Amino acid sequence: MKISHIEHLGIAVKSIEEALPYYENVLGFKCYNIETVEDQKVKTAFLKVGETKIELLEPTSPESTIAKFIENKGEGIHHIAYAVEDGIANALAEAESKEIRLIDKAPRKGAEGLSIAFLHPKSTRGVLTELCEH
Ligand code: ZN
Repeated sequence: MKISHIEHLGIAVKSIEEALPYYENVLGFKCYNIETVEDQKVKTAFLKVGETKIELLEPTSPESTIAKFIENKGEGIHHIAYAVEDGIANALAEAESKEIRLIDKAPRKGAEGLSIAFLHPKSTRGVLTELCEH
């Protein structure tokens, strides 16, 4: 697959409202978009760091995978997202052919209108990995 850059880092937080002052007032980034992704039961906030973004993830329901993540591991880095240039479907087929376990067998719609798919951390050395494409 062809990856151009790290699109974003996903960071699980209990509250975007409480987390933003650190990113905006200490690190000096600017939040440019807050969006709820209903089917993932998550509220997201995006900040730009050069070409890469920080995606803050706040659970909107106790059943959210983000709520479970925070319960088990606490707040912190949740996933890394790579920008794929030659199609998510191609990238998934390639990953599967190389015996990587897929969470998503087909691309789905993520925040910011991106097409996304996740690879299972059990086959990526512990890092929940998102592939995304504009
Ligand atoms: Zn993400």
